[in-house]
Amino acid sequence: MRYDVAIIGAGPGGSTAARLLAGKLSVLLIDPKSDAPGSFQKPCGGLLSPDAQRSLARFDLTLPRDVLVDPQIFSVRTYDLSSMLVRDYQRFYLNLDRRRFDRWLMELIPPGVDRLEGRAAAVRREADGFSILCRMPGGAEQTFSARRIIGADGAHSAVRRCLFPGHRARRYVAVQQWFEREDQHPFYSCIFDPEAGDCCSWSISKNRWFIFGGAFSPQDCRSVFEAQKERLARCFGFVFGTPAKTEACEVLRPRRLGEICYGDDGALLIGEAAGWISPSSLEGISWAFDSARVACDALLGGPSQTGNRYRKNTRRLRLRLAGKLLKTPVLYDPLPRRLIMRSGLRSIRTVSDARQCGK
Ligand SMILES: Cc1cc2nc3c(=O)[nH]c(=O)nc-3n(C[C@H](O)[C@H](O)[C@H](O)COP(=O)(O)OP(=O)(O)OC[C@H]3O[C@@H](n4cnc5c(N)ncnc54)[C@H](O)[C@@H]3O)c2cc1C
Repeated sequence: MRYDVAIIGAGPGGSTAARLLAGKLSVLLIDPKSDAPGSFQKPCGGLLSPDAQRSLARFDLTLPRDVLVDPQIFSVRTYDLSSMLVRDYQRFYLNLDRRRFDRWLMELIPPGVDRLEGRAAAVRREADGFSILCRMPGGAEQTFSARRIIGADGAHSAVRRCLFPGHRARRYVAVQQWFEREDQHPFYSCIFDPEAGDCCSWSISKNRWFIFGGAFSPQDCRSVFEAQKERLARCFGFVFGTPAKTEACEVLRPRRLGEICYGDDGALLIGEAAGWISPSSLEGISWAFDSARVACDALLGGPSQTGNRYRKNTRRLRLRLAGKLLKTPVLYDPLPRRLIMRSGLRSIRTVSDARQCGK
């Protein structure tokens, strides 16, 4: 069978695209992930930002309670290791179980979309469409064909690498560890540490877990991560212990609008496969939702000029990305960050701060 569209990847971007195209086009959705123990799961902080909440509202979706985890936290503690300043800032994230969130998004896909548990190993252009070579869990291979492709396969996108091999984007490796800690006061944190590179690190409390992660330049990422843990323990009293789980994956971080890979008339890239992610916070779920919506509108708008329509209609996304690109140097440059943090502007003075000051 030849599908109208093959969607590669069923993260927030791919599941959304499958849901929006179901019943309108014949759709094949390909993703290797399953609930089987040991199956790859996307490393993620699992924080649903206000932008992502707005995207869900635009889709008229409400979140089921079993996707949430304990506790919901209302501030982020920001650590600056260059100035040794610490400040709390109000945040409006929802704390999620990312695995359950992805599963819920897949459950919303109406019947009629064919799903394949497999990995797209190679994608080739043909006379009137694409062939996709898939590797199944047992190792068997099968080829599928489709008139159009949506590449929703995340930062290390096979679609981008096969069809747009010349495209260059700034890449980091995110390393994240899970520690079993029931005794610790729950908190989120965001850590700026120039010794660990020019990106950031974070910690999140989720049920009985304390999760610590960071995004680092690919060279020596693991040793830089370990050295940062040691600095946080020494300078700020972080307690890590033995990790129950260590996970890692690629993460993109655009430096300019030109680093977005939109695709072309036959193959559209959405979500992190295209490079849609906030360079200031690495928040990517809202971008996956919004780019999926725009790509589906472009696909349903007719067979010609799809690529142009997609690029044109991402105007709002590009504007938002431009805003994040302007904000990034202010946040990541130690001097303005120190001035902002020292001023206390928009920070929250917590009860424990007051206690430390003896008040
Ligand atoms: C450590 C870390 C923490 C993060 N924390 C947050 C956060 O708290 N909040 C937030 O908003 N964003 C966060 N992000 C960013 C966010 O996770 C991504 O931007 C978002 O998941 C992108 O969605 P997506 O659908 O484009 O891709 P993904 O969620 O990456 O999904 C890609 C899907 O494609 C599948 N796939 C991959 N390769 C293939 C292939 N060859 N064939 C078939 N399927 C394939 C994968 O199994 C996966 O299901 C974080 C990122 C990292 C790395």
